[in-house]
Amino acid sequence: MNTSLHSTDVSSINGSSRDSWSAGSSPGSMSVNSSIAASSAMSRSMFKKTKRLKKTGELRTTEQIKTHIMMGDTLLDVLYEDLKLDTSGDACTKCSLVLSEDQVMLGWRSCSFNDYTTECPQCKHRFVARFSVTSSSPTFTGSQGIGTPLYCEFLSPWVLRKEIHAAMNNEEGYGSILKPDWRSGTDIRSTLWWNLIVSFRKHRLAITFLLQGSFRNQLIMPMPDT
Ligand SMILES: [Zn+2]
Repeated sequence: MNTSLHSTDVSSINGSSRDSWSAGSSPGSMSVNSSIAASSAMSRSMFKKTKRLKKTGELRTTEQIKTHIMMGDTLLDVLYEDLKLDTSGDACTKCSLVLSEDQVMLGWRSCSFNDYTTECPQCKHRFVARFSVTSSSPTFTGSQGIGTPLYCEFLSPWVLRKEIHAAMNNEEGYGSILKPDWRSGTDIRSTLWWNLIVSFRKHRLAITFLLQGSFRNQLIMPMPDT
């Protein structure tokens, strides 16, 4: 399994990360939505409605952005042959319920920058969800080496933002994130990069700029100084 956030790289990227792992497992307060669901059948149907995340295909975008999204997806497939991002296969560590991507996302604590866990909708246990990245590309290194899946902690947008911010502050700025080397290992950097890909795709945002370092052609304007 990928050790990423537990690895020594964490301390160099963000010293507070280790503490947040244990802090994340503390008992949480019942969410407003959970209280509503418990009250009545009518509320339960409301609960279901509010618990549905917008599907990626429903998100509107401009033609220009659409072109960039398509280009980004194509280039990603060129770099990572047979790429498969499996965001819905992780099971609760207590009751073994296999969570869908939406369930993982709905279990994150809003606006919490230090909580790396999600909540199981069945038993309410909090655990760190993971997603896997597989590719048949000969250069793709998984958690157990080449040819194996890469397991990444599935980070909430708030945690991801904090970690990316820390990574950009501690290294050579945003330019470093665009270099292929930055994401090629199995540490926190690859976890952050693949989380960016998952998050941007989910919200129909262009990922082209994240791939610029792998291509000679100018994909984005302005070009980074790397
Ligand atoms: Zn559970």
